[in-house]
Amino acid sequence: MSNSEQEKRELQEFNFEDTIMPHLLSGEVGALLSGDGSAQTPVVQKALFLGPKSENADLVEKLLLQVFRDHVYWRRNFHPEDPPVISHAEQYSKGFLAFWGNFERELFALLGRLKSDIPFFSPRYIGHMLSETSIAGIVGYIAAMLYNPNNVSWEASPVTTLLEIQVGRMLAKMFGFGSTEEELEGTWGHITSGGTVANFESIWVAKGVKFLPIAVRYSARELDLTDLTAGPDNTPVTRMSAWELINLNPVEALDLKDRYLQNYVSAFPEDEKEEALAEAVSILKENTILSMGDHAFFSRLKGKDELNVPIMIVPQTMHYSWEKGPGIFGIGSKQVKRIPIDRYFRTDMILLRRELDRALSKRIPVIQVVGVVGSTEEGAVDPIHTIVKMRNEMRSAGLSFSIHCDAAYGGYMAACFRDRNGALRSLPDMQVDYGGWPSRNIYASFCGMSETDSITVDPHKTGYVPYSAGAIVFRDGRCKELVAQEAPYALGGREKQHPHEIHIGKYIMEGSKAGASAASVFLSSQVIPLNEQGYGKILGRTAANAKTFYNHLLEVADAVGDEFKIVPFFQPDTNIVDYLFNVTGNDKLDVMNRFSLKIYSKLCIDPERPVQTRRFIVSHTEFGYENYNPIVLKQILKEQMGVKPGYFIPADEFISKKAKGKTDGYDDHIFVFRTTLMNPFVVEKVTPDKNYIEMFMHELPVRLKHARTVLKL
Ligand SMILES: *Cc1c(COP(=O)(O)O)cnc(C)c1O
Repeated sequence: MSNSEQEKRELQEFNFEDTIMPHLLSGEVGALLSGDGSAQTPVVQKALFLGPKSENADLVEKLLLQVFRDHVYWRRNFHPEDPPVISHAEQYSKGFLAFWGNFERELFALLGRLKSDIPFFSPRYIGHMLSETSIAGIVGYIAAMLYNPNNVSWEASPVTTLLEIQVGRMLAKMFGFGSTEEELEGTWGHITSGGTVANFESIWVAKGVKFLPIAVRYSARELDLTDLTAGPDNTPVTRMSAWELINLNPVEALDLKDRYLQNYVSAFPEDEKEEALAEAVSILKENTILSMGDHAFFSRLKGKDELNVPIMIVPQTMHYSWEKGPGIFGIGSKQVKRIPIDRYFRTDMILLRRELDRALSKRIPVIQVVGVVGSTEEGAVDPIHTIVKMRNEMRSAGLSFSIHCDAAYGGYMAACFRDRNGALRSLPDMQVDYGGWPSRNIYASFCGMSETDSITVDPHKTGYVPYSAGAIVFRDGRCKELVAQEAPYALGGREKQHPHEIHIGKYIMEGSKAGASAASVFLSSQVIPLNEQGYGKILGRTAANAKTFYNHLLEVADAVGDEFKIVPFFQPDTNIVDYLFNVTGNDKLDVMNRFSLKIYSKLCIDPERPVQTRRFIVSHTEFGYENYNPIVLKQILKEQMGVKPGYFIPADEFISKKAKGKTDGYDDHIFVFRTTLMNPFVVEKVTPDKNYIEMFMHELPVRLKHARTVLKL
């Protein structure tokens, strides 16, 4: 190459970098990704899914092919001057062909094995909380997966990181954490591997925020900031006790941190401010519980500053992540107070109040109170609005805490409550659309979500997207700085960070994670908007279907009342129905449980039998004496099942009866049938005169009779 040619080439390369392919800043990429773009026509339910018979196969095939071809072009056109590395000759070589032959065999073997998987797509699958995945979810996932972005840092995912941030804001909007662009920027939401990690993150942050004011006080003393005040009475922080400081509201705690920084920095001339800020941040960081560790943090609080062992308060219907999490974060699973359920399987607000009063009078720090929206076993919705109200009242009395809403399952139903402009819908409008759902209480509860501090929601549950995609949304995004870690290797080598460059990995529990999940959730929310026109259409329908299922059970119960008891023991709050079976006249709990198990054995996944032998698949749960309010359960046994409540006993009592061989009639749990009506097609006809729900109901008496005969009851 001659000198001038060389020069020309270098120049070309230089220009290439600078003008043709600029290093796009996130804001610029964001501008290319237009608005929230939500389609403003109502979704057509049948267009959203592949369908139980793959009815939409042609459409999906076309999309998948487009996705793949588009990716192929992208590869070819990245430096088209680069030569290919795999030649045709190689592709037809013996070794190559043999490898592919083997590959194909293995693939077909895998595809064969997958046929034993569970037909979640079928309206006959009415078991656990999963069903069809949306086409948008699948296609969005595969499209991004081919690019394999890693949403740990902006440098590894310039496009999908933005999608993830956008998804966080869309969810925040749906929950009412904000409505304007500016308000939503103040929130913080991102995708997690699932509801479990989202719940963990809420604990991590709640603990950080809870003890933040104490860290500020120590830091303020170090920096001699005597005029720093906190709370509604503007009390000087350096004179506040540890107990007073931890009972500031989460927002007040975060305000305090900001004021501490401003206060310190304001004393410096302009050119020294940046350094002063760094100093104040670093001193604060040294004093936080997350950097000191519980032992060091608590043991320096002495005398009137000494704190009792902190607790968390969760519903009895909690998901077991609430048992794991407090152990992981050094709170201790024994410090988790479980509030028993009421008659509707919602957290009993009177008992919650009692626990909070106790905490106040005994000065026990409460890190977090959790309410569930769509409990895992029952789909029950806790009165979130009442928890919010209680916090406001307790705050004036001197006790505060973070409120977390575990809406892993029910969260997407918030879409039913928002009109196309994001405004709250009226209760009567909703009830007309969704067969009477929601009740006044459920409505109030969903409205109350906007005043919680954080919300867990699982796109891979009622968002109908493929695993893994959970999400956590914080109302006050400032909290993310408390858990922020610097990971220089992930932050890129360039000297100056652009303010728009978002490194999600810095603020979250996980590290590397699939950008494909973000794309999947993003595309789903674009195609199926997070309002009444989109997800609201599907999920409102499922709530109505659950009510239909519930009513049908009551009808069958009426028809076979002489022989059997069929009891759906509460009206569904969301789209899960729980129910019990018994033989009329039987008053023994163990017999009732055995009878139920027998029925269930024909309605469950059985590794011994092909799944095709199942006409329907439901799921079950067990209500243990210790885990559920026995007063409520005994009442159901007595009044609705005809079982002597005395037969329901604690596990240790049951074990000692067992040792004496005297368990006749007794048991320590109740076997419960659980049906999740997530599949929107359960009300489609399966025969000319019956839909899937009707078919299930039609077969029910036969199943009960069969179980009774086999067990000779
Ligand atoms: C499913 C569920 C979780 C856990 O979510 P994963 O995605 O399985 O980790 C947490 N809380 C509730 C209420 C749930 O239903």
